[in-house]
Amino acid sequence: MLFSEKIKTVQPSSTLAITSKAKAMAQDGADVIILAAGEPDFDTPDVIKEAAIKAIREGKTKYTPASGNKKLKELICRKLKADNGLTYDIDQIVVSNGAKHSLYNILQVMCNPGDEVLIVSPYWLSYPEMVKLAGGVPKVITTREENSFKLTPEDLRKALTDKAKALILNSPSNPAGVVYDKNELGKIADICGSKGIIIISDEIYEKILFDGKEHVSIASLSQEAKALTVVVNGLSKSYSMTGWRIGYMAGDKDIASMVSTLQSHATSNPCSISQAAAECALSTDLEAEMEKNRRIFQERRDVLLKSLQGIEMIKPFKPEGAFYMFCDVSKCGMDSLTFAQKLLEEKKVAVIPGDSFGDDRFIRISFATDPETIEEGVARIGEWVDSL
Ligand code: PMP
Ligand code: GLU
Repeated sequence: MLFSEKIKTVQPSSTLAITSKAKAMAQDGADVIILAAGEPDFDTPDVIKEAAIKAIREGKTKYTPASGNKKLKELICRKLKADNGLTYDIDQIVVSNGAKHSLYNILQVMCNPGDEVLIVSPYWLSYPEMVKLAGGVPKVITTREENSFKLTPEDLRKALTDKAKALILNSPSNPAGVVYDKNELGKIADICGSKGIIIISDEIYEKILFDGKEHVSIASLSQEAKALTVVVNGLSKSYSMTGWRIGYMAGDKDIASMVSTLQSHATSNPCSISQAAAECALSTDLEAEMEKNRRIFQERRDVLLKSLQGIEMIKPFKPEGAFYMFCDVSKCGMDSLTFAQKLLEEKKVAVIPGDSFGDDRFIRISFATDPETIEEGVARIGEWVDSL
């Protein structure tokens, strides 16, 4: 069979593949420790589930406008104003099937063949693949651990060519848990502004922050920054709603209109039941629950960090947000894929190889699981590394 040249250049998502493989092993009875998951282990709050059940009973089972229900878009505008200080009209919002879908759509409507999209490494593995699928060229900017894996103004300036179209920024970030402050974002916005580079700001982990860190949306820095930026967010991580598939973009009216057109032919509206659930999430006071989850994640991060301290061959990078720890395993003398594969085969511990995130010296350990599982997983990793 003949496949397109485009799809032949794209790798499947290893985060999803490894997590599914580990779950299947567990279902077959293997004693697997899964430290790979890219989703909160908490259940969706009951009030949200009830709203979805009610929506089904009330017959909210039909097509909605492709870009999402008006009420949901109004609630998203309210959220963006209250949490991020951003004012948008509803025609600047498009609701999609997860933030992943929003990012995909934005890149599809923005890229012409050969356009460069700047991606900060270590990066979330879907960014380069989505850029390629849009006909663009992923241009990876490698950050350094000594700079806390942050994009510096110098690195950004050096990466800019005439073909540069957009920058994807992710704070808090996956996989390293990097959180940018206002000052750092301001410098990035200024450089992008001077060159007309669009900023795609992926803020999906905004509610999962540690040690008193605050989330700042780069779009909130000035009217100029807002005009350049497309904000992407969703309910997956903050409301433990990964399976419901609700994400959204907020930005320039024209981009929203193009994204809506694309979506109207590709998927039509996001699931009407999930939209009703999202309306409930955004109109109910769930701050206390979110704060509780945030604290639990911080405690788990600390448990993971402490347990890893006993393993000399592994050097963790302390995250300030999200629920992943990026760990340097280069002293173990193998590439990250071999490390992850052998660890799963020999010790039944699932982690994600850093290769997928642009750095083969690292692995990503998720701490979206209970402390006992984290400690058992690290104990196995420690035994295995000692035996190498
Ligand atoms: N951005 C980042 C950095 C992520 O880790 C994820 C997780 N899958 C997403 C976007 C997409 O999330 P979702 O599609 O579930 O909204
Ligand atoms: N974003 C999560 C992760 O990085 C979920 C998996 C995915 O969507 O790729 O593990």
